[in-house]
Amino acid sequence: MPPFDPAEYDISELGPKVQGIDDVDELEELLEAEEAGEDRAPVLTVIRSRIENLSDDEEGGDAEFDLSEMSAAEVGNALQDIDDVDRLRDILDREESGEGRDSVERLVRRRIDSLEGGEEEGEAEEPESPEERHPELDHPTADKQYVKALADGTYGDMWVYCETQAGDLLDVSREMLGHARTMMDGYNETYVDDDEDDERVVAVLIGDDVERHAEECIALGADVVVYHEDDRLERFRHKPYTEIFADMARWGADPPARDGSEGHPGEDADWREYDEPRYTLYPATNNGRDLSALAQAELDSGLASDCSGLYIEETVISNPVKTGSAGSNRTFERVLHMKRPDFSGFEYSTILCLDNPDREFHPQGASVIPGSFDLPEPDGDREGIVVEHDADLEEDWFRVDVTEFDRLEGGVDLTGHDVVVAVGRGIGDDPTRGIELAVELADAFEDADVGVSRGIVTGSYNFDGHVERYTQEERQIGETGQVIEPQIYIAAGISGAVQHKVGCDESDTIIAINTDPDARIFDWSDYFIEGDLFEVLPELTAAVKAGKLDVAADGGVAEDGRDGPDGDVAADSGGADDD
Ligand code: FAD
Repeated sequence: MPPFDPAEYDISELGPKVQGIDDVDELEELLEAEEAGEDRAPVLTVIRSRIENLSDDEEGGDAEFDLSEMSAAEVGNALQDIDDVDRLRDILDREESGEGRDSVERLVRRRIDSLEGGEEEGEAEEPESPEERHPELDHPTADKQYVKALADGTYGDMWVYCETQAGDLLDVSREMLGHARTMMDGYNETYVDDDEDDERVVAVLIGDDVERHAEECIALGADVVVYHEDDRLERFRHKPYTEIFADMARWGADPPARDGSEGHPGEDADWREYDEPRYTLYPATNNGRDLSALAQAELDSGLASDCSGLYIEETVISNPVKTGSAGSNRTFERVLHMKRPDFSGFEYSTILCLDNPDREFHPQGASVIPGSFDLPEPDGDREGIVVEHDADLEEDWFRVDVTEFDRLEGGVDLTGHDVVVAVGRGIGDDPTRGIELAVELADAFEDADVGVSRGIVTGSYNFDGHVERYTQEERQIGETGQVIEPQIYIAAGISGAVQHKVGCDESDTIIAINTDPDARIFDWSDYFIEGDLFEVLPELTAAVKAGKLDVAADGGVAEDGRDGPDGDVAADSGGADDD
């Protein structure tokens, strides 16, 4: 007789019941009853796998766990599926008497510990550092004095790297200052007592003749402006900019900046009393991206790049790497929550930069996509202090010469055209030809220009010189580019990410050309041409030249009939036939 009649239970109830049976004979009977009755494949699988597991145990083996064949990482992953503490202890015994790998034993103990809620015998173990875990590897970061010395460091203020270009403060610098002000006002209200000094917004200016922006930075929200001027810094240079930023960040710190060099070793900074900034913000521009990665690495911290949302809040974490022991929670205060869109903007991740029990990670750093925050209103009555950073710059930092450069013209305004032809990463098979085709189509209209998705701006395509100007950020359409409302918007090889959509969905008529009928843009285009842009664009150009497709007086598309150039334009307002 089976222990119960399986037919009386549905599949979700049977799983736990089967796991509770330890007798192989009973399970065999249950299997027979199920086969003779409902004969449900998933139920049979559950019973058979339980029989298999118990048989392995009885044989003194664990078929899924041939430890001699598994790496520590494989064991770690497999352990996550095991909730049976006895089985885990058996695995531990076998590892101890077999391979004897410390890392594997630790993983198994931690798993047991987490299942038992931290009540495993003995104290929870100190987490091992990467250096201890992998002594065979180089650990250059560990050699940096700051990593060790800044356990128990002091941190303060939010630093904003205010980028300038061709002598002008970039709008993204203004946007970051405004948002930093808002965040630090909230921070001071939450974390700083009335008898303590507020933490501040510190604007950082590096370049040639940059002090003149200090007043504006203060009006936009900075309490302090730290600047370094040198005519060799007129243009962004990786090495000196990174060295200067890191030197400013450690100025007056313990250990001091650039120990043993001529910077600010041991010199007190009378305007601050902390070892390193608490937070750092950089613009996610080309130069800002470079600086942010280099400076944060130099400061031995992490970076969340391309963020579009930032706020400060506490968070509770149970990850043992961060708490120091399994099965416990730790509350982190003053955490910068750095939100960034992932998967073409279809999902937002929140990145946190949290200390480990034995290692601190400051500054908590983010780069910010231009346009993510509102431009603040300047307040001319605000007051702040301006501090010059005047460390010597080493000649060696300038060993790369800039021998020639082009200054791009004043920018491209895509608003106000009747038609905009935009291309995206769909041009990847022949990028130069893809741009040429877009230009040819735009030229066929009376008043049209060429735009691009961000996928083109940030892609690593090699364009021939004659089309390069069409591929620059100044032609990007979308949330962080231009917002346009032409009568016709033609999007070729663009998937339709939400950040792109917000830049063009007010267009009167949107025509998408895409090989993938499931592309997001299908949902918000008026006409969807399923096809290869390398074939469709020339046909559209020919149709426009032949007067078959034109901008109608009412702003719509006047066509030769309702069909497109080759009869495959689907009239589609939000998901029509995909022919
Ligand atoms: P993909 O998403 O790679 O799409 C390429 C498309 O081409 C696919 O649909 C494919 O089916 C199609 N295709 C391939 N081959 C062909 C062919 N031969 N013919 C026809 N079709 C073809 N993006 C913007 O555009 N503007 C913004 O302002 C913007 N701001 C952003 C801000 C933030 C904070 C972030 C994180 C992202 C932003 N993005 C922006 C990026 C955005 O999320 C997408 O990654 C980007 O728009 C994708 O570009 P794409 O459509 O060209 O490339």
